[in-house]
Amino acid sequence: MNIYLMVGAPGAGKGTQAALLAERLGAVHVASGDLLRDAVRLDSPLGREAKRFMDRGALVPDDVVIGIIEERLSRPDAQRGVILDGFPRTRLQAEELDRSLAQRGERVIAVMYVGVREEELLRRLSGRWLCRAAGHPYHDVSHPPRVAGVCDIDGSELYQRDDDQPATVRARLEQQLPPMYDVLDHYRAQGVLFTVDGEGGIEAVNDALVRAIAPPVQPSRR
Ligand code: AMP
Repeated sequence: MNIYLMVGAPGAGKGTQAALLAERLGAVHVASGDLLRDAVRLDSPLGREAKRFMDRGALVPDDVVIGIIEERLSRPDAQRGVILDGFPRTRLQAEELDRSLAQRGERVIAVMYVGVREEELLRRLSGRWLCRAAGHPYHDVSHPPRVAGVCDIDGSELYQRDDDQPATVRARLEQQLPPMYDVLDHYRAQGVLFTVDGEGGIEAVNDALVRAIAPPVQPSRR
């Protein structure tokens, strides 16, 4: 099972990039935030526990997140390869992931860091809207829908995530950036970290990611 990690601050566009990359590589896109939001919607005990943290912009406790990720990675489709989006978010999560992969003789192939400046993150997050049907993303300034409040693709209603409200956005960045830097240090030390500039257009960033993990084969000299 090939595992690639997509790391980035909230608002760096890692979800969009992970989905595109998964399609290009024929891999499965697994987003910890989506799995947690599914649990919240189902109102399971785990979902109720997670919601208390998510509403404040705080990280959900490591053991809760590690449990849902391990379960997801054990499903058969993960054998196609996985782009993990939003996990690990702390050093402990990274160590647990490494340990559980090592038990199966596997390891993280590459870690892709989508870098975006903090002021740009604030601007992006505060204007973000998602559609109810499929989570298609829009933005007040950079990518407004054709009709206000309606998804261009499937016509469903657009909404703002509770944790995309301006006050929570700041809290999310303050609480989530320091542990994210720990995760980057952890994988930099393993020599598997690739950094791409996340402030370009969606396709340019994606092309940079593909180049980072699959360097062109040098033609052999004859
Ligand atoms: P995201 O959709 O990735 O921005 O995640 C939404 C929220 O879910 C985050 O603000 C956290 O509260 C929680 N969350 C997602 N992934 C993790 C993780 N790996 N560890 C802890 N909390 C997480």
